[in-house]
Amino acid sequence: MNAETPQKRIAIFGSTGSIGTQALEVIAANPGLFSAEVLTAHHNDELLVQQALQFNPNIVVIVDEKKYQKVKQALAHTDIKVFSGEKSLEEVASMDCFDLMLAAIVGYAGLKPTLCAINKGKVIALANKETLVVAGDIIMRKAVENRVPIIPVDSEHSAIFQCLVGETRNKIEKVLLTASGGPFLGRKPNYLVNVKREHALQHPNWSMGAKITIDSATLMNKGLEMIEAKWLFNLKPEQIQVVVHPQSIIHSMVQFEDGSIKAQMGLPDMKLPIQYALAFPRRIPNQFPRADFKKINTLSFEEPDIKTFRNLALAMDALQKGGNLPCIMNAANEVAVFAFLHNRISFLDMTDVIEKTMAGVSFIANPTLEEYFESDGEARNFAADIIKL
Ligand code: NAD
Ligand code: MG
Repeated sequence: MNAETPQKRIAIFGSTGSIGTQALEVIAANPGLFSAEVLTAHHNDELLVQQALQFNPNIVVIVDEKKYQKVKQALAHTDIKVFSGEKSLEEVASMDCFDLMLAAIVGYAGLKPTLCAINKGKVIALANKETLVVAGDIIMRKAVENRVPIIPVDSEHSAIFQCLVGETRNKIEKVLLTASGGPFLGRKPNYLVNVKREHALQHPNWSMGAKITIDSATLMNKGLEMIEAKWLFNLKPEQIQVVVHPQSIIHSMVQFEDGSIKAQMGLPDMKLPIQYALAFPRRIPNQFPRADFKKINTLSFEEPDIKTFRNLALAMDALQKGGNLPCIMNAANEVAVFAFLHNRISFLDMTDVIEKTMAGVSFIANPTLEEYFESDGEARNFAADIIKL
């Protein structure tokens, strides 16, 4: 560690997931710059204990209380503190033992701990896009009030963020949010009707957790990302354009008032945006594979097919109408994806569940935080009733 750059103390909320484990690789490669002070997992006690023994954090949280004793015993010979239960995520998020929270829990469950860390003035490296989809207005307002930087980890938003460095006084005309198109690019409903869980879990370019992989196959992921971009960069819906770019080399672009377009490029590897967010404002060296333009001979672009991938059309509607509609959509989507992953509904049923829930739960134009929580609960019940979960 050198005196000018003190070691950043990192809390990884969701350390056992795809983003969490890759973040720990970045931390392990840069021990002078980062230390892992908090690690949290939902139920994967074995991996959490292994991570704790390797990184010696201050605190670990195992949300599943049935696993508490096992984790406690496995770490009894260390001075690592062990917490358990959903509420402990918020307690730990409010503690002083870290500087930066990597918000890498999947879904709505990430919202409350992230809000606690913002209220405590912690820097947020945000992977959990659902937090902004559910309550983006409140999150961004609290971040401003507490002078908290929110640094995106999602590759597209990291790309936009990187394109905006040095452009604070310049207006954005629009952002071009790139999408790989997922495993079913070019397919039509007559194909999608028979798609099984195993097909949908095969993403061509990225290896990610199950929920986001399904969201990528339905294009809901891009819809969530449009809403995420609106809040992060203070954009109007018409300033956000989705461009399908199957090679996933350009991670997104910003077009300025003079028509000039900046793009951020690289191989599709989440460690890059994770490292950028952890080290920001510095860039630090690494050994990740480099893009080789002698081998990348095509960068192609096309329009998203929102007639086939109707989840993206629903998300565009939620983005336009705002209020609690994105929150309702997100809750219905989480229930639908869960049901699809458990072979309870088909690929195309997911869209019907979301559409009906968006139509069925009452719209609130300017919700309070409590009303967002209530809308989430109501939408989950509504969606579960449709599926008969
Ligand atoms: P994942 O499923 O691999 O991991 C999720 C993590 O959250 C795990 O550590 C799990 O223990 C924890 N978790 C799950 N449910 C929880 C709950 N109810 N309470 C507390 N903890 C819980 O997911 P992931 O792919 O790492 O994605 C994490 C977040 O990052 C998502 O919001 C996703 O959209 C976003 N993201 C992921 C990628 C990627 O490449 N994986 C890329 C961009 C954005
Ligand atoms: Mg993304």
